[in-house]
Amino acid sequence: MHHHALPPPVRHTRPRGFRGAATAMAAVVAIGLSTSHAYDTENVIVVIIDGVRYSEGFGDTSHTYVPRMSGLARDGAIIEPFLNDGYTYTSRAIPAIWCGAWTEVSTFTDPDCGGTQNNYSRSPTVFEYFRKQLDQPEEECIYVLKDVGCPWKASFDPDYGPEYWPMYHSEGYTDLAVWGEAQTVLATYEPKFLMLYLAEVDQAGHSGDWAYYTRAIATADRIVGEIWDYLQADPAYAGRTTMFVTNDHGRHTYDWTGHGCDCAGCRTIQLLALGPDIVPGLVSTTPRTLRDITPTVGELLGFDTEDATGASLLEILKPAVGADGRLPVARADLRIVPLGVPFGLRRDFMLSLPCPGFTALTVHTTAGHLVATPFRGWLSAGDHQVHWYPAEARGGATAAGVYILTVESGPGVASTLTVHLP
Ligand SMILES: [Zn+2]
Ligand SMILES: [Zn+2]
Repeated sequence: MHHHALPPPVRHTRPRGFRGAATAMAAVVAIGLSTSHAYDTENVIVVIIDGVRYSEGFGDTSHTYVPRMSGLARDGAIIEPFLNDGYTYTSRAIPAIWCGAWTEVSTFTDPDCGGTQNNYSRSPTVFEYFRKQLDQPEEECIYVLKDVGCPWKASFDPDYGPEYWPMYHSEGYTDLAVWGEAQTVLATYEPKFLMLYLAEVDQAGHSGDWAYYTRAIATADRIVGEIWDYLQADPAYAGRTTMFVTNDHGRHTYDWTGHGCDCAGCRTIQLLALGPDIVPGLVSTTPRTLRDITPTVGELLGFDTEDATGASLLEILKPAVGADGRLPVARADLRIVPLGVPFGLRRDFMLSLPCPGFTALTVHTTAGHLVATPFRGWLSAGDHQVHWYPAEARGGATAAGVYILTVESGPGVASTLTVHLP
């Protein structure tokens, strides 16, 4: 197909007399701030154990079937109560975990599955937020699950969609086989984000065989322990990986072979969080829901889960100013300097790094709301130009105002204010 009549290129005309404004702006820009929290988390693993009832999980004070997870909880945080506050069955609850919201689920003809009908979430997912906002390739974002024939897909949201879907790795039938697949995936790709879905506990519960059900919980518990051991032994993950273990729904208080209603057994699920930014040994009693996981992953990795209705689990994260000296160090040789004019479609900034390191540039409102993460990734020492596109903010262009720019690199942090005039 031949394209002609392309629209004329957009020309940015510089208003006359902006120099005076820029001088006034420079006074504002010179104010330094150092309030931001540098998380140590660079990778996140989310494990979903389908259909464990709380009374056979953390709700059993002797932890008969979950000895590994209860041991790990001493180094991490658990939340009680952690709740499914919507549909207590898998086909709605798993997409709610992905989306951080009770998303609608729709069907489409899936070309990846020979044109058969498949399902997708209407809201964007953690996979899409992660890949688009942090500019990550598919192999950094992998969803490992049993062989389901054709895995359900993430969203077709116009701002996200198939270009940002995860790599789907759907192999094996038992939880142990799926864990074996996950190990291969971890070793092969070392993804920054991995979601592992373990389906067997629910299947065992529906079978009506109590011994199989409880054995499946014990197996999932062992797998969680082995995942954590694996992460601690792998230099790519050790000390910079946060793991969340949860489930999608419980089981009836009155009948462990089923679920799907509003009873406490169906609603009560679990959350175990472990990692460098998680308060160790915490049992948090603020009620939370499965919608809060994806926003927390965004908080840790530095992306905005804009359509999520849950909220980040800040109460289980270490405070910014901790007794353990985790306050990022403001250093004079780490700099963020706005370049050019404070308006237009693209804002340019110069980052000057004293040493190479994992670096994030964030833009917050003065009220502390994350507006954008224009850059996140590895940078060498020296000067780097980075760009922020304020007009591309979801839900409308970024409003005029004063914004806090923060660069975190290695142990250092530097902030400055900038004015944005659309
Ligand atoms: Zn079920
Ligand atoms: Zn129930």
